[in-house]
Amino acid sequence: MPHHWDVEADVVVVGFGAAGMATAVTAHELGAKVVILEKAPEGQEGGNTRVAGQGYLNTSSVESAIAYLNALCGPYTVPQAMVRVWAEEMGKNNAWLESLGGDPQEHQHPPVGIEFPDLPGADCVHKFHDGPTYGYSYTWQLFERLVKERPIQVLYETPGQELIQDDITKDILGVRSGAINVKASKAVVLTCGGFENNQQMIRDYLPGVPYCYTSGSPYNEGDGITMAMSVGADLWHMNNYAGPSMALKVPEVRTSFSMQALHYSKEPPGGMIVVGPDARRFADEKFRTRHGKVPVNGRWLPMVTPCPMFLIFDHTHFSAGPLYDGHPSHGWTQIVERYDWSKDNSVELAKGWIKRGDSVAALAGIVGLDPAVLEDSVGRWNRQCETRCDVDFGRTLMMTPIVNGPFYAVELSPSMLNTQGGPRRNEKAQIVRPNGMPIPRLYSSGELGSIYSYLYQGTGNLGECLAFGRVAARNAVAEIPWG
Ligand SMILES: Cc1cc2nc3c(=O)[nH]c(=O)nc-3n(C[C@H](O)[C@H](O)[C@H](O)COP(=O)(O)OP(=O)(O)OC[C@H]3O[C@@H](n4cnc5c(N)ncnc54)[C@H](O)[C@@H]3O)c2cc1C
Repeated sequence: MPHHWDVEADVVVVGFGAAGMATAVTAHELGAKVVILEKAPEGQEGGNTRVAGQGYLNTSSVESAIAYLNALCGPYTVPQAMVRVWAEEMGKNNAWLESLGGDPQEHQHPPVGIEFPDLPGADCVHKFHDGPTYGYSYTWQLFERLVKERPIQVLYETPGQELIQDDITKDILGVRSGAINVKASKAVVLTCGGFENNQQMIRDYLPGVPYCYTSGSPYNEGDGITMAMSVGADLWHMNNYAGPSMALKVPEVRTSFSMQALHYSKEPPGGMIVVGPDARRFADEKFRTRHGKVPVNGRWLPMVTPCPMFLIFDHTHFSAGPLYDGHPSHGWTQIVERYDWSKDNSVELAKGWIKRGDSVAALAGIVGLDPAVLEDSVGRWNRQCETRCDVDFGRTLMMTPIVNGPFYAVELSPSMLNTQGGPRRNEKAQIVRPNGMPIPRLYSSGELGSIYSYLYQGTGNLGECLAFGRVAARNAVAEIPWG
């Protein structure tokens, strides 16, 4: 127990994204004094929520939603009490936001936007955003306003670093951030996102990726997992994530660059393939994955990403415009970093982010691939373009040969939107120990220990932040203050 408390509140919320907002606003509306601790400086708070596509789920029927979530979890089952709470709350997101002055707008009217339309209950899916269109941080702007128009103190650049726990009762009494002790007389709610920027946790927990980079917030480093584990929490869903995709990552920029050629919806001119370290193709580069999952033998599995991977393309593609999709509708690089990619790719070529060779064999030598194998891969691709039949991986888009030299390569890394794992929570949003017993006065919501164990329905994360943010707040506020 610290000798003094620097800040005191009934409910301390750690992390100011969608989950933090829903928790803080609900707790405030129920009469609690709320403080939010945020790691990022003011202007960079909001986490993945700030740069997301901005869609949130509002399901239309509790029973269909139960069926759909159970089907999404498949063999990675989740307790039915959790599934029911998820389904009941997920249908109330619009009403809750409307009650606070929001203006829910449906986009991608079903069946468009249903990620797994063949699964039972899929017709419950309805996706909403706030503001004139989805993307562009509009829904986040509503969330931010809901906090800022209330007397909820936000302490920026104040990361939660350690939970203060009573030695005997094991109650969570507050949070330590450097020399600052923050008292939570009722409860602490962890809403500080996933481990997208913690390469050790990525190696330890995510399947098939020796490293992976995010297109979301660089501040999510798994701190909530470390804090919760240190007070005895169990973990769940650590192997599930919204990824991988393939993107450029350079040391100078914290987050990943999305490449135009890899968008399933775009067909820029010129020839392009992706090869692995053996200089061979390994997938349909234009396949629209389901948040990183691809069909394998009748099951959905994470796409393989043999690292290092290389985008190989010709001069027609190079000269067709910027290779990077910098459109600022979503993504941290586009919205916050705002890297100004040159229109003719010349700056990035000079920086060495793009490599060039006069021939395919010369390019292979420059990036460390076997020249004969890369020539063979390009030749094979070009012949398949002539017959418009990719017998290897069934690609149907951008069936353009790689013929017009010089030739280019960009090293690609596995990338992701967000992780789903974290401390295991129960239907009251309490964080539990391996024996299932709650850690007293400790709650969570959001992608830190999300309910999603296997397949993911787009907009489900923000929907869950709202749903379980309310659940966590209601139960936290109902605690009897200690001391
Ligand atoms: C590009 C992109 C597009 C996406 N599109 C969608 C979409 O359209 N719909 C959808 O449902 N999901 C989408 N997702 C996923 C979704 O954005 C996230 O899962 C969701 O925003 C998580 O919300 P959260 O509140 O749990 O965490 P976050 O929004 O990430 O917020 C966590 C906050 O905690 C802070 N923090 C971190 N560590 C600490 C600490 N130690 N102490 C204090 N604060 C800390 C962070 O700075 C951040 O502000 C997308 C993700 C990305 C990256």
